[in-house]
Amino acid sequence: NKRVILKQFVTGFPTEDDMELVTATVRLAVPAGSASVMVKNLYVACDPYMRNRMSEHNDAAYIEQFVPGEVLGIFGVSKVVASGHPDFKVGDLVWGMTGCEEYSVITHPESLFKINHPELPLSYYTGVLGMPGVTAYAGFFDVSKPKKGDYVFVSAASGAVGQLVGQLAKIAGCYVVGSAGSDEKVSLLKTKFGFDDAFNYKKEQDLNATLKRCFPLGIDIYFENVGGAMLDAVLLNMRMHGRIAVCGMISQYNLEKPDGAPNLFCLVAKRIRMEGFMVLDYFNTYTKFEKEMAGYLKEGKIIFVEDVVEGIEKVPAALIGLFSGRNVGKQLVIIARE
Ligand code: NDP
Repeated sequence: NKRVILKQFVTGFPTEDDMELVTATVRLAVPAGSASVMVKNLYVACDPYMRNRMSEHNDAAYIEQFVPGEVLGIFGVSKVVASGHPDFKVGDLVWGMTGCEEYSVITHPESLFKINHPELPLSYYTGVLGMPGVTAYAGFFDVSKPKKGDYVFVSAASGAVGQLVGQLAKIAGCYVVGSAGSDEKVSLLKTKFGFDDAFNYKKEQDLNATLKRCFPLGIDIYFENVGGAMLDAVLLNMRMHGRIAVCGMISQYNLEKPDGAPNLFCLVAKRIRMEGFMVLDYFNTYTKFEKEMAGYLKEGKIIFVEDVVEGIEKVPAALIGLFSGRNVGKQLVIIARE
């Protein structure tokens, strides 16, 4: 059983030396009485998230780290060769989390998906019909909430997820632009995947200007795959009520000190929705608010602390005090007593 193990935890960019091909013997059977299945792995998927599993520490970890000396976990397409589980029989084709090896024992086969379309290329279950496909579909339709005519920008647009997001956006009637890291990829976006426009981010000096050129009216949806400088430039070009589906930030995965807000990847790992809002948009709900809040105050369910000073001449000091934390509670100034 040839298998790829992690040799050591990785810092910075991973190298081939961080992994090793080893051989172990294998018996094509599952332990007697277990509900495991043994699979022969046919295809495995190389996915960016695997880099995160190679770090010893990952504050934003959403999946366990790999263990040095042990086989890499990996998404794959496999054929069942032995089964102790009633739902799986020898010969079944499945996809899901397996090991980067020729044969794997899957102890929780409930996590595997049966392959229902064997007439399509089996390899598609590592991509368009597998994890990246679900990522693109859910991230675009569920998280980005597209509307016909929306302006959509996709980074890492020629990759597994990005190429699908772009095509789904076209199906949804959006205008879509992609960025990628070579002219060849850019041409693929425009000629094969039907993106309305595309650019090679490595050749652009000023991403803000590039995005302004591509989106003179701004961006409604950004499907974020890369993070870093691109995200920063996109923020300047978002339209009112735009949506950013934070799918990944691959430009940050190998940096020991991420750019900008170093913990931004927590948005992904913790499925955080970070959304701007303005009180102005809610003043039309004031009547409901006032009634409810006045009720809480009268019932003593809410108390409110004020920091009161008297005299208009105290305004500047009171105002400045906000920035050194001098106020305790709501700072206000009495100008006149009734
Ligand atoms: P891709 O097939 O897009 O492969 C990765 C691509 O990322 C590379 O080909 C490269 O393309 C681009 N890239 C690499 N380094 C950088 C960099 N420093 N700056 C900008 N681009 C870079 O991968 P996937 O489609 O599988 O994944 C895309 C993103 O989606 C990743 O961030 C991944 O982590 C995320 N993801 C998130 C999931 C989730 O559940 N949230 C699930 C699956 C993926 P180029 O030549 O264009 O630079």
